[in-house]
Amino acid sequence: MRESEQTVRYGGAREAERPLGRSIRRGLACRCPNCGEGRLFRAFLKPVDACAVCGEDMSHQRADDLPAYLVIVVVGHVLMTGYMLTDMVFRVSPWIHLAIWVPLAVLAALLTIQPIKGGVIGLQWVYRMHGFGGHDDETIDPGHPARKDGPVA
Ligand SMILES: [Zn+2]
Repeated sequence: MRESEQTVRYGGAREAERPLGRSIRRGLACRCPNCGEGRLFRAFLKPVDACAVCGEDMSHQRADDLPAYLVIVVVGHVLMTGYMLTDMVFRVSPWIHLAIWVPLAVLAALLTIQPIKGGVIGLQWVYRMHGFGGHDDETIDPGHPARKDGPVA
């Protein structure tokens, strides 16, 4: 398309507000970031295709590895603090520490990964990432190498 053929639109289309804090909180509660009512997951870490209440399409989510990284950051800091504090107070063998902290780490990771993934999906929804804004990633980035018609000169 030539420059002269492009439509100039002043102000842009009016879009519904997507508050960051509210959307992440709804995601952390494993609820749809749009309405806060519908369930976000149909299985442990499998999001629904669309919200059963408001119909918001959730298939755009690409949380990928970010929830796992965030779980490592959060759980790692909490458990390392707990380990170091108890190690200062009670002098016990490393085997006892392993017996305490390894199961706790597994349990804490399992308990936090779903809400954290919900929060990540809420974040992506707020910033209209990966199609949450109603258009594909390719239309956002015309020069992206994954675009089917190749980079735009
Ligand atoms: Zn919804």
